[in-house]
Amino acid sequence: MSVYDNAAYEQHERVVHCNDPVSGLRAIIAIHSTALGPAGGGCRFWQYEDGLSALTDVLRLSRGMSYKNAMAGLKMGGGKAVIMAPPDRRLTDQLLSAFGDFVETLGGVYITAEDVGMSVDAMQVVAERTRYVAGLPRGEGEAGGDPSPKTADGVFAGIQAAVAFKHGKDSLEGLQVAGQGFGIVALSLCLSLAAAGARLTVADINEARVRMVCEELGASAASLDDILTTKADVLAPCALGAILNESSIPNLGVDIIAGAANNQLATDEDGLRLFEAGIVYAPDYVINAGGIINVACEFEGGISNAVVDQRVQEIGARLTTIFEQSAREARPTNDIADRLAKQLIGRDIESADLIKH
Ligand code: NAD
Repeated sequence: MSVYDNAAYEQHERVVHCNDPVSGLRAIIAIHSTALGPAGGGCRFWQYEDGLSALTDVLRLSRGMSYKNAMAGLKMGGGKAVIMAPPDRRLTDQLLSAFGDFVETLGGVYITAEDVGMSVDAMQVVAERTRYVAGLPRGEGEAGGDPSPKTADGVFAGIQAAVAFKHGKDSLEGLQVAGQGFGIVALSLCLSLAAAGARLTVADINEARVRMVCEELGASAASLDDILTTKADVLAPCALGAILNESSIPNLGVDIIAGAANNQLATDEDGLRLFEAGIVYAPDYVINAGGIINVACEFEGGISNAVVDQRVQEIGARLTTIFEQSAREARPTNDIADRLAKQLIGRDIESADLIKH
Protein backbone atom coordinates (compact mmCIF):
# COMPACT_ATOMS: atom_id res chain seq x y z
CA MET A 1 0.00 0.00 0.00
CA SER A 2 1.36 3.46 -0.86
CA VAL A 3 1.29 6.18 1.81
CA TYR A 4 -1.19 8.10 -0.33
CA ASP A 5 -3.65 5.17 -0.13
CA ASN A 6 -3.76 5.38 3.65
CA ALA A 7 -7.31 6.52 4.52
CA ALA A 8 -5.89 8.73 7.27
CA TYR A 9 -3.79 10.66 4.71
CA GLU A 10 -6.86 12.83 4.07
CA GLN A 11 -5.76 16.29 3.00
CA HIS A 12 -2.39 16.36 4.74
CA GLU A 13 -0.16 19.13 3.43
CA ARG A 14 3.10 17.35 4.13
CA VAL A 15 4.41 14.14 5.70
CA VAL A 16 8.10 13.95 6.53
CA HIS A 17 9.74 10.57 7.11
CA CYS A 18 12.84 11.04 9.26
CA ASN A 19 15.55 8.40 9.10
CA ASP A 20 18.89 8.99 10.80
CA PRO A 21 21.19 5.95 10.64
CA VAL A 22 23.67 7.43 13.15
CA SER A 23 21.25 7.78 16.08
CA GLY A 24 18.84 5.12 14.79
CA LEU A 25 16.02 7.68 14.70
CA ARG A 26 12.93 6.67 12.81
CA ALA A 27 10.25 9.29 13.09
CA ILE A 28 7.37 10.73 11.10
CA ILE A 29 6.27 14.36 11.20
CA ALA A 30 2.79 14.91 9.77
CA ILE A 31 1.57 18.38 8.88
CA HIS A 32 -2.16 18.34 8.32
CA SER A 33 -2.87 22.03 7.93
CA THR A 34 -1.11 25.37 8.23
CA ALA A 35 -4.19 27.39 7.23
CA LEU A 36 -4.46 29.02 10.67
CA GLY A 37 -0.72 29.19 11.46
CA PRO A 38 2.28 26.90 12.02
CA ALA A 39 1.27 23.28 12.61
CA GLY A 40 1.35 22.71 16.39
CA GLY A 41 1.23 19.30 18.03
CA GLY A 42 3.27 17.11 20.33
CA CYS A 43 5.71 14.33 19.62
CA ARG A 44 4.85 10.80 20.74
CA PHE A 45 7.44 8.14 21.59
CA TRP A 46 5.83 4.76 21.13
CA GLN A 47 6.57 1.17 20.25
CA TYR A 48 4.81 0.60 16.93
CA GLU A 49 4.41 -2.76 15.25
CA ASP A 50 5.67 -1.33 11.98
CA GLY A 51 6.04 1.85 9.95
CA LEU A 52 2.49 1.66 8.62
CA SER A 53 0.96 1.64 12.11
CA ALA A 54 3.14 4.62 13.03
CA LEU A 55 2.02 6.42 9.89
CA THR A 56 -1.66 5.78 10.52
CA ASP A 57 -1.28 6.94 14.11
CA VAL A 58 0.53 10.18 13.28
CA LEU A 59 -1.87 11.03 10.44
CA ARG A 60 -4.93 10.57 12.65
CA LEU A 61 -3.33 12.52 15.47
CA SER A 62 -2.24 15.44 13.27
CA ARG A 63 -5.69 15.83 11.72
CA GLY A 64 -7.03 15.85 15.27
CA MET A 65 -4.56 18.64 16.11
CA SER A 66 -5.88 20.79 13.24
CA TYR A 67 -9.39 20.40 14.58
CA LYS A 68 -8.28 20.84 18.19
CA ASN A 69 -6.28 24.00 17.54
CA ALA A 70 -9.02 25.53 15.41
CA MET A 71 -11.70 24.81 18.01
CA ALA A 72 -9.50 26.18 20.79
CA GLY A 73 -9.29 29.48 18.91
CA LEU A 74 -5.52 29.21 18.39
CA LYS A 75 -3.57 30.76 15.56
CA MET A 76 -2.08 27.36 14.88
CA GLY A 77 -2.54 24.69 12.29
CA GLY A 78 -2.31 21.00 13.11
CA GLY A 79 0.63 18.64 13.07
CA LYS A 80 2.06 15.80 15.07
CA ALA A 81 5.22 13.71 15.24
CA VAL A 82 5.91 10.15 16.30
CA ILE A 83 9.27 8.63 17.15
CA MET A 84 9.27 4.87 16.71
CA ALA A 85 10.79 3.27 19.81
CA PRO A 86 13.91 1.22 19.00
CA PRO A 87 14.03 -2.46 20.03
CA ASP A 88 15.52 -1.59 23.46
CA ARG A 89 12.69 1.00 23.95
CA ARG A 90 15.16 3.61 25.21
CA LEU A 91 14.56 7.25 24.32
CA THR A 92 18.14 8.48 24.15
CA ASP A 93 19.44 12.05 23.87
CA GLN A 94 20.85 11.07 20.46
CA LEU A 95 17.35 10.23 19.20
CA LEU A 96 15.96 13.48 20.62
CA SER A 97 18.78 15.57 19.10
CA ALA A 98 18.31 13.99 15.69
CA PHE A 99 14.56 14.64 15.96
CA GLY A 100 15.28 18.29 16.86
CA ASP A 101 17.45 18.60 13.75
CA PHE A 102 14.59 17.39 11.55
CA VAL A 103 12.15 19.83 13.20
CA GLU A 104 14.62 22.67 12.59
CA THR A 105 14.89 21.82 8.88
CA LEU A 106 11.15 22.51 8.56
CA GLY A 107 11.83 26.16 9.39
CA GLY A 108 8.91 26.70 11.77
CA VAL A 109 6.17 25.01 9.72
CA TYR A 110 5.88 22.51 12.60
CA ILE A 111 6.11 23.33 16.35
CA THR A 112 6.73 20.33 18.59
CA ALA A 113 6.04 19.67 22.30
CA GLU A 114 5.43 16.75 24.67
CA ASP A 115 3.03 13.90 24.02
CA VAL A 116 2.86 10.35 25.36
CA GLY A 117 6.31 9.02 26.26
CA MET A 118 7.90 12.50 26.35
CA SER A 119 8.84 14.83 29.19
CA VAL A 120 9.95 18.41 29.84
CA ASP A 121 13.53 17.07 30.10
CA ALA A 122 13.20 15.45 26.68
CA MET A 123 11.94 18.71 25.18
CA GLN A 124 14.94 20.53 26.61
CA VAL A 125 17.22 18.18 24.66
CA VAL A 126 15.17 18.81 21.50
CA ALA A 127 15.40 22.56 22.18
CA GLU A 128 19.18 22.41 21.95
CA ARG A 129 18.71 21.72 18.21
CA THR A 130 15.63 23.71 17.26
CA ARG A 131 13.76 26.90 18.13
CA TYR A 132 10.46 25.35 17.12
CA VAL A 133 9.63 23.66 20.40
CA ALA A 134 7.44 24.40 23.44
CA GLY A 135 6.65 22.65 26.70
CA LEU A 136 9.92 23.93 28.21
CA PRO A 137 10.48 25.10 31.81
CA ARG A 138 8.96 28.52 32.38
CA GLY A 139 9.57 31.58 34.50
CA GLU A 140 7.39 32.41 37.51
CA GLY A 141 3.79 33.16 36.41
CA GLU A 142 4.52 32.64 32.69
CA ALA A 143 2.83 30.26 30.27
CA GLY A 144 4.80 27.09 29.61
CA GLY A 145 6.11 23.92 31.20
CA ASP A 146 4.55 20.47 31.14
CA PRO A 147 1.18 20.88 29.37
CA SER A 148 -0.41 17.86 31.10
CA PRO A 149 -1.85 19.67 34.17
CA LYS A 150 -3.56 22.19 31.84
CA THR A 151 -4.99 19.31 29.81
CA ALA A 152 -6.39 17.92 33.06
CA ASP A 153 -7.86 21.33 34.01
CA GLY A 154 -9.65 21.47 30.64
CA VAL A 155 -11.01 17.95 31.08
CA PHE A 156 -12.24 18.88 34.56
CA ALA A 157 -14.03 21.95 33.11
CA GLY A 158 -15.48 19.67 30.42
CA ILE A 159 -16.79 17.16 32.99
CA GLN A 160 -18.44 20.03 34.88
CA ALA A 161 -20.08 21.24 31.64
CA ALA A 162 -21.28 17.74 30.69
CA VAL A 163 -22.74 17.09 34.16
CA ALA A 164 -24.50 20.47 34.13
CA PHE A 165 -25.92 19.74 30.66
CA LYS A 166 -26.98 16.14 31.23
CA HIS A 167 -28.05 16.25 34.87
CA GLY A 168 -28.56 19.97 35.55
CA LYS A 169 -26.06 19.83 38.43
CA ASP A 170 -23.43 22.46 39.24
CA SER A 171 -21.66 20.32 41.83
CA LEU A 172 -19.56 17.18 41.30
CA GLU A 173 -20.11 16.08 44.93
CA GLY A 174 -20.85 12.34 44.93
CA LEU A 175 -20.32 12.01 41.16
CA GLN A 176 -19.05 8.54 40.19
CA VAL A 177 -16.22 8.73 37.68
CA ALA A 178 -14.63 5.70 36.01
CA GLY A 179 -11.15 6.45 34.68
CA GLN A 180 -9.33 4.35 32.10
CA GLY A 181 -5.61 5.03 32.46
CA PHE A 182 -3.95 6.76 35.35
CA GLY A 183 -1.02 8.58 33.78
CA ILE A 184 0.19 12.17 34.10
CA VAL A 185 -3.05 13.82 32.94
CA ALA A 186 -5.28 11.49 34.93
CA LEU A 187 -3.27 12.10 38.11
CA SER A 188 -4.00 15.86 37.97
CA LEU A 189 -7.58 15.23 36.92
CA CYS A 190 -8.22 12.76 39.74
CA LEU A 191 -6.80 15.20 42.31
CA SER A 192 -9.30 17.86 41.14
CA LEU A 193 -12.18 15.39 40.99
CA ALA A 194 -11.46 14.06 44.48
CA ALA A 195 -11.21 17.62 45.82
CA ALA A 196 -14.64 18.31 44.28
CA GLY A 197 -16.11 15.31 46.12
CA ALA A 198 -16.28 12.87 43.20
CA ARG A 199 -15.82 9.15 43.77
CA LEU A 200 -13.29 7.42 41.54
CA THR A 201 -12.86 3.97 40.04
CA VAL A 202 -9.67 3.51 38.02
CA ALA A 203 -7.88 0.95 35.90
CA ASP A 204 -4.35 1.04 34.53
CA ILE A 205 -1.91 -1.56 33.26
CA ASN A 206 0.49 -0.14 35.84
CA GLU A 207 -0.75 -1.71 39.07
CA ALA A 208 1.52 0.38 41.29
CA ARG A 209 -0.12 3.57 40.03
CA VAL A 210 -3.57 2.13 40.68
CA ARG A 211 -2.55 1.22 44.25
CA MET A 212 -1.29 4.78 44.72
CA VAL A 213 -4.58 6.40 43.65
CA CYS A 214 -6.57 3.95 45.78
CA GLU A 215 -4.48 4.68 48.87
CA GLU A 216 -4.12 8.43 48.44
CA LEU A 217 -7.49 9.41 46.98
CA GLY A 218 -9.72 6.62 48.32
CA ALA A 219 -10.43 5.40 44.78
CA SER A 220 -11.46 1.87 43.98
CA ALA A 221 -9.73 -0.29 41.41
CA ALA A 222 -11.32 -2.01 38.44
CA SER A 223 -9.77 -4.55 36.11
CA LEU A 224 -8.69 -3.48 32.62
CA ASP A 225 -11.57 -5.51 31.19
CA ASP A 226 -14.22 -4.11 33.52
CA ILE A 227 -13.50 -0.38 33.48
CA LEU A 228 -15.49 0.31 30.32
CA THR A 229 -18.58 -1.43 31.67
CA THR A 230 -18.32 0.00 35.19
CA LYS A 231 -21.59 1.61 36.31
CA ALA A 232 -20.80 5.28 36.93
CA ASP A 233 -21.94 8.77 35.93
CA VAL A 234 -18.90 9.60 33.81
CA LEU A 235 -16.32 7.57 31.92
CA ALA A 236 -13.05 9.47 31.55
CA PRO A 237 -10.86 7.73 28.95
CA CYS A 238 -7.30 8.82 29.71
CA ALA A 239 -5.21 6.10 28.08
CA LEU A 240 -5.83 4.81 24.60
CA GLY A 241 -7.61 5.71 21.38
CA ALA A 242 -10.40 3.79 19.59
CA ILE A 243 -11.93 2.49 22.83
CA LEU A 244 -15.43 3.65 21.82
CA ASN A 245 -16.47 1.20 19.15
CA GLU A 246 -19.21 -1.08 17.91
CA SER A 247 -18.55 -3.69 20.58
CA SER A 248 -17.81 -1.45 23.59
CA ILE A 249 -20.61 1.11 23.19
CA PRO A 250 -23.61 -1.21 23.88
CA ASN A 251 -21.97 -2.26 27.16
CA LEU A 252 -20.96 1.14 28.56
CA GLY A 253 -22.21 1.82 32.08
CA VAL A 254 -22.33 5.65 31.92
CA ASP A 255 -24.30 8.41 30.25
CA ILE A 256 -21.38 10.87 29.93
CA ILE A 257 -17.98 10.33 28.29
CA ALA A 258 -15.47 13.05 28.98
CA GLY A 259 -11.75 12.29 29.07
CA ALA A 260 -8.31 13.24 27.83
CA ALA A 261 -7.41 10.44 25.41
CA ASN A 262 -6.99 11.33 21.75
CA ASN A 263 -9.04 9.62 19.03
CA GLN A 264 -11.48 7.96 21.43
CA LEU A 265 -13.96 7.06 18.68
CA ALA A 266 -12.87 4.12 16.54
CA THR A 267 -14.90 5.57 13.65
CA ASP A 268 -17.12 8.61 13.12
CA GLU A 269 -20.16 6.28 13.17
CA ASP A 270 -19.37 5.49 16.79
CA GLY A 271 -20.29 9.09 17.61
CA LEU A 272 -23.73 8.38 16.16
CA ARG A 273 -23.94 5.16 18.20
CA LEU A 274 -23.26 7.13 21.39
CA PHE A 275 -25.80 9.79 20.43
CA GLU A 276 -28.48 7.16 19.73
CA ALA A 277 -27.70 5.51 23.08
CA GLY A 278 -28.37 8.85 24.83
CA ILE A 279 -24.74 9.17 25.94
CA VAL A 280 -23.28 12.68 26.03
CA TYR A 281 -19.85 12.51 24.41
CA ALA A 282 -17.43 15.42 24.86
CA PRO A 283 -15.45 15.42 21.59
CA ASP A 284 -11.91 14.46 22.58
CA TYR A 285 -10.08 17.21 20.74
CA VAL A 286 -12.30 19.88 22.27
CA ILE A 287 -12.10 18.68 25.88
CA ASN A 288 -8.36 17.85 25.84
CA ALA A 289 -7.16 21.16 24.35
CA GLY A 290 -5.83 22.61 27.63
CA GLY A 291 -2.27 21.42 26.98
CA ILE A 292 -2.05 22.83 23.46
CA ILE A 293 -3.53 26.13 24.66
CA ASN A 294 -0.62 26.26 27.11
CA VAL A 295 1.88 25.30 24.39
CA ALA A 296 0.53 27.94 21.97
CA CYS A 297 0.65 30.66 24.64
CA GLU A 298 4.20 29.66 25.57
CA PHE A 299 5.33 29.72 21.95
CA GLU A 300 3.68 33.08 21.32
CA GLY A 301 5.47 34.45 24.41
CA GLY A 302 4.60 37.22 26.86
CA ILE A 303 1.40 35.49 28.04
CA SER A 304 0.80 34.89 31.73
CA ASN A 305 -0.19 31.62 33.33
CA ALA A 306 -3.38 33.34 34.56
CA VAL A 307 -4.44 34.06 30.97
CA VAL A 308 -3.74 30.43 30.05
CA ASP A 309 -5.97 29.30 32.93
CA GLN A 310 -8.76 31.58 31.76
CA ARG A 311 -8.52 30.22 28.18
CA VAL A 312 -8.50 26.63 29.44
CA GLN A 313 -11.66 27.28 31.47
CA GLU A 314 -13.42 28.38 28.25
CA ILE A 315 -13.36 24.72 27.17
CA GLY A 316 -16.40 24.18 29.43
CA ALA A 317 -18.52 26.84 27.69
CA ARG A 318 -17.37 25.63 24.26
CA LEU A 319 -18.55 22.11 25.08
CA THR A 320 -21.88 23.39 26.39
CA THR A 321 -22.42 25.11 23.02
CA ILE A 322 -21.70 21.81 21.24
CA PHE A 323 -23.98 19.78 23.55
CA GLU A 324 -26.82 22.25 23.07
CA GLN A 325 -26.41 22.34 19.31
CA SER A 326 -26.29 18.53 19.24
CA ALA A 327 -29.59 18.35 21.15
CA ARG A 328 -31.22 21.06 19.04
CA GLU A 329 -30.21 19.58 15.69
CA ALA A 330 -30.39 15.90 16.72
CA ARG A 331 -26.84 15.31 15.49
CA PRO A 332 -23.92 13.66 17.32
CA THR A 333 -21.50 15.94 19.14
CA ASN A 334 -18.50 14.70 17.10
CA ASP A 335 -20.31 15.68 13.93
CA ILE A 336 -21.09 19.17 15.28
CA ALA A 337 -17.46 19.65 16.36
CA ASP A 338 -15.97 18.29 13.10
CA ARG A 339 -18.11 20.58 10.97
CA LEU A 340 -17.24 23.63 13.04
CA ALA A 341 -13.54 22.77 12.98
CA LYS A 342 -13.54 22.28 9.21
CA GLN A 343 -15.29 25.61 8.75
CA LEU A 344 -12.75 27.31 10.98
CA ILE A 345 -9.81 25.78 9.12
CA GLY A 346 -11.47 27.07 5.94
CA ARG A 347 -11.64 30.46 7.71
CA ASP A 348 -15.41 30.45 7.83
CA ILE A 349 -16.20 33.73 9.59
CA GLU A 350 -19.70 32.72 10.78
CA SER A 351 -18.35 29.97 13.03
CA ALA A 352 -15.88 32.30 14.71
CA ASP A 353 -18.39 33.24 17.43
CA LEU A 354 -17.88 29.86 19.09
CA ILE A 355 -14.21 30.38 19.70
CA LYS A 356 -14.02 34.00 20.77
CA HIS A 357 -11.86 34.51 23.85
P1 NAD B 1 0.59 8.81 30.11
O1 NAD B 1 1.43 7.96 29.24
O2 NAD B 1 1.20 9.50 31.26
O3 NAD B 1 -0.63 7.96 30.69
C1 NAD B 1 -1.28 6.95 30.01
C2 NAD B 1 -1.64 5.89 31.02
O4 NAD B 1 -2.47 4.91 30.38
C3 NAD B 1 -0.41 5.13 31.57
O5 NAD B 1 -0.44 5.16 32.99
C4 NAD B 1 -0.57 3.71 31.02
O6 NAD B 1 -0.09 2.72 31.90
C5 NAD B 1 -2.08 3.63 30.87
N1 NAD B 1 -2.54 2.61 29.93
C6 NAD B 1 -1.98 2.22 28.75
N2 NAD B 1 -2.70 1.24 28.20
C7 NAD B 1 -3.74 1.01 29.03
C8 NAD B 1 -4.85 0.11 29.01
N3 NAD B 1 -5.01 -0.77 28.03
N4 NAD B 1 -5.75 0.17 30.02
C9 NAD B 1 -5.60 1.06 31.03
N5 NAD B 1 -4.55 1.91 31.12
C10 NAD B 1 -3.65 1.88 30.13
O7 NAD B 1 -0.16 9.82 29.12
P2 NAD B 1 -0.87 11.19 29.47
O8 NAD B 1 0.03 12.29 29.08
O9 NAD B 1 -1.47 11.13 30.83
O10 NAD B 1 -2.03 11.17 28.36
C11 NAD B 1 -3.18 10.36 28.50
C12 NAD B 1 -4.02 10.45 27.23
O11 NAD B 1 -4.40 11.82 27.00
C13 NAD B 1 -3.28 10.03 25.95
O12 NAD B 1 -4.21 9.43 25.06
C14 NAD B 1 -2.81 11.33 25.35
O13 NAD B 1 -2.65 11.27 23.96
C15 NAD B 1 -3.95 12.24 25.71
N6 NAD B 1 -3.58 13.65 25.79
C16 NAD B 1 -2.58 14.04 26.62
C17 NAD B 1 -2.25 15.39 26.68
C18 NAD B 1 -1.18 15.88 27.61
O14 NAD B 1 -1.11 17.11 27.84
N7 NAD B 1 -0.38 15.01 28.19
C19 NAD B 1 -2.93 16.33 25.88
C20 NAD B 1 -3.96 15.88 25.06
C21 NAD B 1 -4.27 14.53 25.01
